[in-house]
Amino acid sequence: MKSHRKEFWFNTKSRRELINITSDVEDEVKNSGIQEGFVLVNAMHITASVFINDDESGLHQDFERWLEWLAPEKPYDRYNHNTAEDNGDAHLKRTIMGREVTVAITDGKLDLGPWEQIFYGEFDGKRRKRVLVKIIGE
Ligand code: ZN
Repeated sequence: MKSHRKEFWFNTKSRRELINITSDVEDEVKNSGIQEGFVLVNAMHITASVFINDDESGLHQDFERWLEWLAPEKPYDRYNHNTAEDNGDAHLKRTIMGREVTVAITDGKLDLGPWEQIFYGEFDGKRRKRVLVKIIGE
């Protein structure tokens, strides 16, 4: 069995951002040389997500509105977590959007459904954060 590990680093300009990382993950699958296996992609921070959905701007606005309705950023004092920090909302957003995805690799390619795209979801950005990509197979 072969394995391949890579970290993707991010430093978003805004507090919240959705970034399509599908082609970067695809490149790592190619670099790994693995033809049959799995790739795990997970956020290494508790205020960021990795998830799979459609790359459609209306849907991304819907995610933003829905997450702000569920866990508004402000007022900061609505969260018990926000004593020394102001990111209580980001922890909750991360939890609902998920930590990681696992995708099958078939014939050396990501075996995704027709509209499936892999996203990094940042909920407390403007600082360096990373995603782990781990590929196993043969
Ligand atoms: Zn926190």
